[in-house]
Amino acid sequence: MNSPLTLSRGRLETFLACQRRFQLRYLRRLPWPPQPLQEDTEESLARGQQFHQLLERYFLGLAVEPGLIGDEQVRRWWDLFQRSGLALPEGRPLPELTLTIPIGKHLLNGRFDLLILGDHDGQPFAHLFDWKTGRARREADLRRDWQTRLYLAMLAEGGQALLADERPFPPEAIAITYWYATAPNKPRTIHYDAAWHAQNWAEIQAIVAQIDAQLQADTWSLTDDWTLCRDCGYQVYCGRQEAGCAVPISDEDAEPETDWLLEPDLP
Ligand code: SF4
Repeated sequence: MNSPLTLSRGRLETFLACQRRFQLRYLRRLPWPPQPLQEDTEESLARGQQFHQLLERYFLGLAVEPGLIGDEQVRRWWDLFQRSGLALPEGRPLPELTLTIPIGKHLLNGRFDLLILGDHDGQPFAHLFDWKTGRARREADLRRDWQTRLYLAMLAEGGQALLADERPFPPEAIAITYWYATAPNKPRTIHYDAAWHAQNWAEIQAIVAQIDAQLQADTWSLTDDWTLCRDCGYQVYCGRQEAGCAVPISDEDAEPETDWLLEPDLP
């Protein structure tokens, strides 16, 4: 296959988890068998989407009327967000923005909940915000997360396309803030820098080079981690039915992890 691929956080994570799954899902485009979501997961997903839409309206400058928010949980999140006094830099807010940049002969694609662009001391800055309704994660974990790494790198490498004068953003002028409805007064802000970018971008390029090598060889290895097969819809293609099925979440207090489901899949 020689045509360029559009790669996203989800696709890179899939490749790193299981090359075979990457091939079946994104190259052969075998339908991903729909798995019925648990009722509470579906509700969490719907609420998460509603909350993201509310914030999109808000940052587009449209009125948000709390009395018209039908879902009590979403209304509570909105109230928490309003009362948290989240510090936002002065600049141009761009909610639900999609950025696509080249990498080798392929493309990297990311969708940001909110990007604020502005100038500080004559230098452009870019500050991302991401809304989370699940369990709050530690900053150290977020720094390792591919969402953080990919989005920061994309802005450093291709963010200039968002500015009329096409000035690049120095890595030190790029940051991401995760705001959690479950920890509204403790946003996690991660600042990028040149040394991290050099290493981070090299690792992203190395993964893409590995994808290119697999495309050339057309060999796609099965993961050694059989636990990943437990919630994989392609078991039968790999003869991994023995892996069984994932056990439903047993911790009743645990918030189902649904944030990843809010990211639209690429065609
Ligand atoms: S069943 Fe396992 S080996 Fe096969 S694609 Fe899924 S995760 Fe990979």
